[in-house]
Amino acid sequence: MNSDQHHSTRDRVIEVRGLRRSYGDIEAVRGVSFEVARGEVFCLLGPNGAGKTTIVEILEGYRSRTSGEATVLGLDPASGSRALHERVGIVLQQCGVQPDLTVSELVEMYGRYHVRQRSVDEVIDLVELSEKRDERAKQLSGGQRRRLDLAIALVGDPDLIFLDEPTTGFDPAARRAAWSAIKSLCELGKTIFLTTHFMDEAQFLADHVAVMRDGQIIASGRPEDLGGRDLRPAEIRFTLPAGGVSAADVPALPGEQRSVQGDRVIVTTREPVRAAQVLTTWAVDNAVDLGHFSVTQPTLEDIYLELTGSGDHNQTREEQSA
Ligand code: ATP
Repeated sequence: MNSDQHHSTRDRVIEVRGLRRSYGDIEAVRGVSFEVARGEVFCLLGPNGAGKTTIVEILEGYRSRTSGEATVLGLDPASGSRALHERVGIVLQQCGVQPDLTVSELVEMYGRYHVRQRSVDEVIDLVELSEKRDERAKQLSGGQRRRLDLAIALVGDPDLIFLDEPTTGFDPAARRAAWSAIKSLCELGKTIFLTTHFMDEAQFLADHVAVMRDGQIIASGRPEDLGGRDLRPAEIRFTLPAGGVSAADVPALPGEQRSVQGDRVIVTTREPVRAAQVLTTWAVDNAVDLGHFSVTQPTLEDIYLELTGSGDHNQTREEQSA
């Protein structure tokens, strides 16, 4: 084995090959393969029932597989190895803790179960709960409770952390706080396996996403180029000023397809830079005040809906979200 191969093997925290899991006649996972590298945030996406939880629970060692190979931190998760449990942190969707204990008491108590321990204060700080360290768990809001769950998962200083829909039910500020806590983990070199139904969360956090449907991975890659996202046409949108200028006055733009709805114009083009230049030069030269001007690429959600069959591919993105 050459040194490159050796390096890449050592840096694979999770390896899954041809994984299958059936429940009676239902084949929930149908031949899934992927790898997760050390220090990356890997995100599994997919509609309800796609098979995500089944895969996560197989990797966590809570569910058996029907066939295929799975390795987590070099060990078989089905072995029930204590060494593996020591190195893996799990944040479940619902996690019950003793409601009358304070944040710091709980983190300290769970820390005692581990050989390796991070400092209680450091962990509480990391999940941004320092101001709540002496409050009882039952007094915390839903979002604060989830961050406490995260702190409990972190106190054993795991190398790999499973986060199952970590921000479901959070308000926007709490989501941002959780994202910031998760980013801090990445900076510590932790590997994170995330499931979420929020595409903005995947976009913000993930280095690599895999999209599942009907028990199979149908696309995977960086959020920026999933499903050829980076190669898709962009949309240029603007509104025309009242009186004097009509859509027919707007010059032909490179590579464009145009849709006009009253004073709103949507131009779809694979040459957004040149098209925007022609358009803005015309507008400035002719003192045409274009309103609400924007240039956008398809979002991760656009691509996800297309891949999972939940979107109409012939609509403009605006029609889809209307
Ligand atoms: P969600 O987004 O709703 O959490 P998921 O992608 O995690 O969905 P899974 O929970 O893995 O999906 O379920 C995949 C399929 O396996 C579904 O059809 C589900 O009904 C089925 N399934 C899951 N657990 C069991 C079980 N214990 N017994 C029988 N069928 C099951």
